[in-house]
Amino acid sequence: MTNTRWNEVNLDEVGATGPAGAAVIEALASGESFLAWRRLVVIIEMLAAGMAALGADAGDCARRMIDLEANIAGEVAVGMRVARSTAERHVALAVEARDRLPQSARLLRDGVISLPCFREIVLQTTGVTDGDAIAAVDAAIAQELREIGGVSYGDASNVARRMVAEFDADALRERRRAHSKGVTVSNDVDDATLTIAASVEEIALASKAIDARAARVCKNDSRSCGARRADAALAALTGNKFGCDCGSDNCAVRATDSEIAEEFAKIVVHVIAHESTLNGDSSKAAWFDGFGVIDAHHAREIASRPGTLIRPLDLDAVADCPFQLGNHYRPTAGTDVAMRGVHGTCVFPGCKRPAWGCDLDHVCEYNHEDPAAGGATCQCNLNPKCRFHHLLKTYGEGWIDDQVVDANGVIWTELTTPSGHTVRSRARNQWLLPQLGLIPCKHGRPVAPGVIDAATEPERKRTRTQAKHAQRMQIRSQRRYAMACAKAAATAQYDSAEPPPF
Ligand SMILES: [Zn+2]
Ligand SMILES: [Zn+2]
Ligand SMILES: [Zn+2]
Repeated sequence: MTNTRWNEVNLDEVGATGPAGAAVIEALASGESFLAWRRLVVIIEMLAAGMAALGADAGDCARRMIDLEANIAGEVAVGMRVARSTAERHVALAVEARDRLPQSARLLRDGVISLPCFREIVLQTTGVTDGDAIAAVDAAIAQELREIGGVSYGDASNVARRMVAEFDADALRERRRAHSKGVTVSNDVDDATLTIAASVEEIALASKAIDARAARVCKNDSRSCGARRADAALAALTGNKFGCDCGSDNCAVRATDSEIAEEFAKIVVHVIAHESTLNGDSSKAAWFDGFGVIDAHHAREIASRPGTLIRPLDLDAVADCPFQLGNHYRPTAGTDVAMRGVHGTCVFPGCKRPAWGCDLDHVCEYNHEDPAAGGATCQCNLNPKCRFHHLLKTYGEGWIDDQVVDANGVIWTELTTPSGHTVRSRARNQWLLPQLGLIPCKHGRPVAPGVIDAATEPERKRTRTQAKHAQRMQIRSQRRYAMACAKAAATAQYDSAEPPPF
């Protein structure tokens, strides 16, 4: 890439300069999207020019190995310094943008989504073959993504899935059928992996079972979270016992088999679906906690599995009283489910942590001394945050979050970063629980939110510097090991010149 004139472009004109912070980062990301869109347009122009040049012969050329698309992929490959297969994927993406998803592609132009988001939309809509259906799906995806704000990769994926589920349910069902079960093992000595492919419900349950096993250690266990999960899963697969590695005879965690079995019986995965979806009256999609949108048929399949418990969500009860009568700080089970369900994930833009793996946070702090003066335990003031983002909001300097319900009952979250940039996002599953924001509040405005006790801020096990040192030490020891191996190999080669020792 030798064109240095990009350096002369006046970024002021596109708002991509100013104090370093999230606003500039966002403007630059929009610029990347815009350039990716321009590249697709240029490819479309090359295709159009090629077609025009072929004229009446276009039909004859369709079977030729070096057809028009292959020629243009060649141009793209040279321009981008990429392999032919990569260039062909860019050409295919341009054709999708032109023929099937023109409105979604314009989201790229307008910086609403990134190129990986557009690729994901293409992937999610692959099964839609009917021309009218794809036009409807494209229009619906574009409209929704323009409205929701703060679009992440997960949002693009879920919105596309939902529109396919609602306009062409068979397409999603076919994709699910095509996903076959299997176990694969990588043959890479340095990166050995075992992958199990199965349905989302089976994988969700298995993953939680691994978590439950891996959690049975005391605080002196030396392993990282990932290593413990791997050891727990391998122990289960090989029929071995998994335990704490602290080495202490007095370790507090010694689970009996019956205790473990009891824990497994408590493993729950959550799906939020409309009653009309479950009884077959509608094709409205559903939400699988931690995985995202599933189609109506899939939701009904899960509902009919042995062991599935269906609990109706009583929004009248939430409206009546959102908090527990004995403890106004705690939401009722119904309010808790409704708030996790309507947000779907941690509310920080881009965070994918499942709602049921999050803390349910009082956005405006609850005042334990004077509950009526602080933030209310109410649908207007509760949302899920993963532990990290909960701590960041609570103890991080300059992070401000807010939740507002607009006049139409739409729930919005607003996050302001320390540099002063605000991202406004609609509750991700507003479509699933539109009635929730229409419930009137029964409390006054908070006048004296609770105060945060800085002494309760948790500390890292290791400081960032300690963690970096540990990582460097690990890399150094790996290098030394590699050097030792190379030296040993060289010696072995040298020795092989000598007569063998026999
Ligand atoms: Zn222990
Ligand atoms: Zn989070
Ligand atoms: Zn309220």
